[in-house]
Amino acid sequence: GGSIVWIDCKSIAKSIEEDVRKRVDLLSFTPKLVSVVGTDDPSTASYLRSQKKKAEKLGIDFEIIKTSPGDFLSTLEKLAEDKNVNGVFVARPLPEGLDEKRVFSAVPVEKDVEGVNPENLGFLLYGEETFPPCTAEAVVKVLESVTEISGKKVTIVGRSVTVGKPLAIMLLKKGRDATVTVCHSRTQNLGEITRASDIVVVAVGKAHFLKRDMVKEGAIVIDVGINYVDGKWCGDVDSAVEEIAQVTPVPGGVGQITTALLFEHVVRAAERQKA
Ligand code: NDP
Repeated sequence: GGSIVWIDCKSIAKSIEEDVRKRVDLLSFTPKLVSVVGTDDPSTASYLRSQKKKAEKLGIDFEIIKTSPGDFLSTLEKLAEDKNVNGVFVARPLPEGLDEKRVFSAVPVEKDVEGVNPENLGFLLYGEETFPPCTAEAVVKVLESVTEISGKKVTIVGRSVTVGKPLAIMLLKKGRDATVTVCHSRTQNLGEITRASDIVVVAVGKAHFLKRDMVKEGAIVIDVGINYVDGKWCGDVDSAVEEIAQVTPVPGGVGQITTALLFEHVVRAAERQKA
């Protein structure tokens, strides 16, 4: 078999973080991110702990607000008015009974560092990426670092509002000019579609989902999935794919860049709110 070519996501994350630190230093105040959480979900708690660590490393203030379902919207309203808060992150999953669209609409647009507010998602359709969803942006950054996207056939497997759909719009943007296909659980002949693609992005959430025979030799494969199987983390891409394609690793791949971009958005929000 050929030699394995991993796509280096660490250095992309590192350069974003270096940029963030520099820009934090240029501000006359310390930017602040607040994460609002409404459940006791253990994986959310562990994610928030890693956010906290990263914030400390980057010189950004960080606070977690635990709130009840009944107080969720009023908490967001208070954060909208709080001048010391530059970014607001809403942890998923939301508590049962809360409507995602209502909650995310209450995230102040100019502090919406995750790009979940429908207004920010709408801007994407106009090619405006003030606060694009971090994971979709991370995938774009990886692709731009390894290839010319223009004219390429890109297949995205997964159509979530956080990953697949915004990513499709971002890759279609004038100037990026990919030819985009979006697949999902009702797609027929998925393997044929992915095999005909120069680039395959998998955001499904199932370990070993993308098999070697679904990928063209020499293709670029971006693994967005995060799965916990037999005590360790893995993506959606089966390991045999690495023998014929360039693949992003999990862990240490897209997820790292996603987190770095979240903080880049916090700094961006702080710079804009200062102005
Ligand atoms: P969702 O569960 O919202 O979406 C999964 C998508 O996969 C759906 O569109 C679904 O189709 C599709 N799908 C499921 N089964 C199949 C199948 N057999 N064939 C084709 N398509 C299928 O997940 P998310 O988009 O939120 O996340 C996807 C993965 O990415 C998860 O593992 C998540 O943990 C990870 N993730 C990683 C991030 C990062 O920073 N690296 C950030 C966010 C998520 P349908 O719509 O028809 O149901």
